[in-house]
Amino acid sequence: MTNQQSNKELWDIIQSEIKDIVSEGVYELWFRPMRILNIKDDVVYLEVPNRFYKEWIEDNYPQLLEEKLSNYLGSKHSIKFRMQEKPDVETKKIDNKKESRRQRLASKGIYLNPKYTFDNFVVGTSNEFAHAASKKVVDEPGTVYNPLFIYGGSGLGKTHLLNAIGNALFDKDPTINIYCKSVNILTNELVSALRHGKTSELLETFSGVDVLLVDDVHFLAGKERTQVEFFHIFNTLYEKQKQIVLTSDRPPLEINDISDRLRSRFNMGLIADINPPDVETKIAILYKKSENEGIKLPEDVAYFIASRVKSNVRDLEGCLIKLGAHSSLTGKKIDIELAKNVLKELISNDDVKLITPDRIQKEVCEYLNVKVTDLKAKKRTKEVAFARQLAMYICKNLTNLSLSEIGKNFGGKDHATVIYACKQVSEKINTDEQFSRIVDTIIRRIKDN
Ligand code: ADP
Ligand code: MG
Repeated sequence: MTNQQSNKELWDIIQSEIKDIVSEGVYELWFRPMRILNIKDDVVYLEVPNRFYKEWIEDNYPQLLEEKLSNYLGSKHSIKFRMQEKPDVETKKIDNKKESRRQRLASKGIYLNPKYTFDNFVVGTSNEFAHAASKKVVDEPGTVYNPLFIYGGSGLGKTHLLNAIGNALFDKDPTINIYCKSVNILTNELVSALRHGKTSELLETFSGVDVLLVDDVHFLAGKERTQVEFFHIFNTLYEKQKQIVLTSDRPPLEINDISDRLRSRFNMGLIADINPPDVETKIAILYKKSENEGIKLPEDVAYFIASRVKSNVRDLEGCLIKLGAHSSLTGKKIDIELAKNVLKELISNDDVKLITPDRIQKEVCEYLNVKVTDLKAKKRTKEVAFARQLAMYICKNLTNLSLSEIGKNFGGKDHATVIYACKQVSEKINTDEQFSRIVDTIIRRIKDN
């Protein structure tokens, strides 16, 4: 078999797995047009139609392809994208600059995303407080607000601000040692260090850290060992007056399952929230992003997207990228018709009755004869648990809600519970024909009613 054949076969397998994970629309637009060009020296070269694809995949499924490919190839492989459509000189320059900055940082063990800066962060009433606090931290690290605790819903710019702080501090002083990782990565590193008896080496690396930026600290919930170590890392750096910035999807008081002493540390400095942006801010974000991406976005289209995408900046950008990708693939210019057409699955249309978690729960419960209140409670009888999983699965497929937003609609379950539910249900759909028909029927009822 030639290399090309085996690459194609490998890619077919990966694509079929991806189909099970993402929705059909997402698969068709983003994943189907890709192919493996070449595999060399632990790098898989993937061909994509244009730069929007690279960006979209990196933003939405950063690890998915790498994990799947590495799994099949039996060792860790990284991914490089090759574009069919050559980027113009300007874009290439900017990309190269970002990439070389990323590499320069990574060679020092600093994992900042060069894409996220203060320059391209749009300030509006929803985020001005968090933005101002972040700026202040850059001006006077370790003194005024320590720790700075930024919280807000998913896709509202927490990771962006965290990295902007790091990037700005690095610009001020390129010798600075910045630790910027999410709690999940920290946890993985710790688990692996524990397994190999290298905990003290790992903890030792924190002694030279000047700035500690930790993303998504709500994931500390329930991770006792990580909490203990994190508490010590926090204290050591805090006592040395090193700046600490933390982000979370909720305020410290609402993070369940963390130790009181850690919670009180989180509360010690300044707590700043980020709220969903208003329409004006959303439009400003769209303009800024389209300018950066070289997308010509007419005013009415910007307004259309901003007024339909309810709260999440990530989704807002997703619409723009999808529109850009579509227009660049087909050569059609971006106008309101194209936007309505291309974005119909992504945005809510007020003319059509919205499919909400409430409606999904109601239909599922009616069909399976369980009470909606039980679905939102802790109740775990087999019937209720089953109905709950199914309703979560349908929410995932018929709404644009994030996993944690779905969880919230089921009495505050976390995103992991939702992922687990979706997995259970898709497995059953694949193996049990009768069950699969029931699911179809329920989905039809939801759509028709
Ligand atoms: P979070 O960490 O809160 O879930 P992110 O920081 O990852 O959200 O933001 C999601 C996307 O939205 C990112 O691409 C980010 O650049 C963008 N974004 C969020 N808020 C803003 C803003 N105020 N201005 C510009 N881009 C923003
Ligand atoms: Mg984030």
